[in-house]
Amino acid sequence: MHFVDEYRDAHLVKGVLDEIRRTVSRPWAIMEICGGQTHAIMHYGLDQLLPPEIELVHGPGCPVCVTSLELIDKALLIASQPGVILASFGDMLRVPGSNGDLFSIRAAGGSVKVVYSPLDAVRIAQENPDRQVVFFAIGFETTAPANAMSVIQAKALGLKNFSILASQVCVPPAMHAILSSPHSRIQGFLAAGHVCTVMGYWEYPPIAEKYRIPMVVTGFEPLDLANGILMTIRQLESGKVEVQNAYTRAVTYQGNQAAQAVIHKVFQPVDRQWRGIGLIPMSGWGLRPEFSEYNSEIRFNLGHIQTHESPLCIAGQILQGIKRPLECPAFGKQCTPQNPLGAPMVSSEGACSAYYRYSSTAAQPDSGGL
Ligand code: SF4
Repeated sequence: MHFVDEYRDAHLVKGVLDEIRRTVSRPWAIMEICGGQTHAIMHYGLDQLLPPEIELVHGPGCPVCVTSLELIDKALLIASQPGVILASFGDMLRVPGSNGDLFSIRAAGGSVKVVYSPLDAVRIAQENPDRQVVFFAIGFETTAPANAMSVIQAKALGLKNFSILASQVCVPPAMHAILSSPHSRIQGFLAAGHVCTVMGYWEYPPIAEKYRIPMVVTGFEPLDLANGILMTIRQLESGKVEVQNAYTRAVTYQGNQAAQAVIHKVFQPVDRQWRGIGLIPMSGWGLRPEFSEYNSEIRFNLGHIQTHESPLCIAGQILQGIKRPLECPAFGKQCTPQNPLGAPMVSSEGACSAYYRYSSTAAQPDSGGL
């Protein structure tokens, strides 16, 4: 197949769903790590088309959702300082911090610019030599190469007014954290295809072996997801534990080694706080000491920040697959996309946002459902 619409062909997807129905014999809980996959599942109504034995549990793979409240508050503090331009991906502007969001900082006169690439932030720094430009570098392994390149580019240009507020997070330590939790009920993983496009999947076999859990690298179209679920179910039903690749058109075992080299040149593993989940050891990337002059936390000497999370928000339990968005008492009442209490209601990859957008319309023919 060559075109994306072939991966949305309802006839082909229904054929795979029929095969899943013939294969499954007992209940299984499968987690899709990635928020983009959660949105595709809800958008196409796949969760409603699967046999009732299969429960899809939504994982923590929404970078906006897991960026720690402390880092968001630091971004708010930096953006409110005179002489500073904070550059950020658009999703982050509506994420609530302890007291407001980046939109409210902008409304109060702070300079917050939406960019589509970290290299845009480097360009802004070149064009504004009298201002400090800070890029809010969030994301999983997918954004890390471009974020690292922005630092390399700034160094090559000799820029003294560019830095990044690093909030990089990594998938494998999150898998360890979820599977080692006494609350975990996950029996299979759909691994995120775009993360594996960069990193490959050589890190996953030891995790699959340690926790005796099948994993299948899966893409984002309905046929990709259905195939990934079928391959996972086949392993579960037969008692196999392997890491398989259902996204071979993009992913290789080793991944993009040039991109990995750029990441490791600029970043090193660090402990990272995940919003709603807590500290996961060595689950993030921070700047290496030789790039510390580009570290916004050092440049602005922000120190410790006292945070305040909404007591109504159960995002941590949702991000770990313990609860679903519809189980949150605030869902659709106190918390909506217009008035979010937590990041999963804001982000285009957030599970609460996916349920709000699609849960009443999924699987209807005119709504994009299959
Ligand atoms: S619906 Fe809102 S308050 Fe509830 S978990 Fe999701 S983001 Fe938090």
